[in-house]
Amino acid sequence: NRSARFALTGASGYIAPRHMKAIGDSGGQLIAALDPFDSVGILDSYSPDTEFFTQAEEFEKYLHQLRRDGQGIDYLSICSPNYLHDPHIRMALRSGADALCEKPIVLHPEDIDALKELEQETGQRVWTILQLRVHPALVALKERLDAEFAADPGLKKDVELSYVTGRGNWYMRSWKNRLEQSGGLATNIGVHFFDMLVWFFGDMQRLEVHERSETLVSGYLELERARVKWMLSIDTDYVPAELAAQGQRTYRSITVGGEEIEFSGGFTDLHTEVYKRTVAGQGFSLDDTRPAIEIVSQIRNLDLTQPSNETAHPLIG
Ligand code: NAD
Repeated sequence: NRSARFALTGASGYIAPRHMKAIGDSGGQLIAALDPFDSVGILDSYSPDTEFFTQAEEFEKYLHQLRRDGQGIDYLSICSPNYLHDPHIRMALRSGADALCEKPIVLHPEDIDALKELEQETGQRVWTILQLRVHPALVALKERLDAEFAADPGLKKDVELSYVTGRGNWYMRSWKNRLEQSGGLATNIGVHFFDMLVWFFGDMQRLEVHERSETLVSGYLELERARVKWMLSIDTDYVPAELAAQGQRTYRSITVGGEEIEFSGGFTDLHTEVYKRTVAGQGFSLDDTRPAIEIVSQIRNLDLTQPSNETAHPLIG
């Protein structure tokens, strides 16, 4: 069994080292990397033999050459900005590789349909990183919930979700704050927790957006088995005072039927876990990710609603 062969786009960025580590830790090899920005010395820490390109055309040519020589790559890991995911996934599939793409897989639900057609045409697959689905505290919660729902199929839970993850001033000036490049706050960061919610509680039935700014988005979501008051912010003012006093800039908390599960910690090796599953053929697919992409795309476009006592999130006035 030869080790899985990877290439990677977005090699100089923030998240790429986690992929480089996951490739090594899951027994793979990083053959080639692309980034127009050449501050990529990090490669020496993981795989100094990796070929590096700053031009997409040359990178793609190299992938095709490898394939002709019978040494094609098996996966293209995609760590580029969100609006480039779709074209980079296409580059992967046309190069005879599967794509293993960061979240959000694409910005628009229609793009998923088009990519499914391309999967059919090429016989390659598209996988994504949904690392909350392998977070130990959340996997344990999912198992408990599944057992409860099996015992009482009509059960609907009351849920509060707070997701605060502080970002510095740079965020506002980067592609991450440009709607057409990142999809905006709910898409770029919220996609993690909306995916978790549909994974726990089933399909969307009703959605309201109460607040939507560059730093805060909140609303109400009804799913098959839950009523959810949700809020997401990159403003550390929303970190509860006692945690902020300890210097904490992150607060991720879900309360299900009055019981709180805090999952701010335990994030470090989740990418490696997703890589292991993907290489074993058990990764997260386009169909897995579609419900969350639909929700975040609606959050971008829905008119704002006035919250009521039943729908208002307690942290939002
Ligand atoms: P980043 O801006 O730090 O890095 C993006 C990199 O892509 C940059 O080095 C940039 O030069 C490069 N790039 C730009 N255009 C390119 C092109 N045409 N071809 C190849 N590379 C190109 O952003 P980041 O924080 O590393 O985010 C990258 C991706 O990872 C995003 O999709 C983001 O949503 C995702 N992400 C996921 C998590 C997670 O927890 N799973 C966390 C952070 C980011």
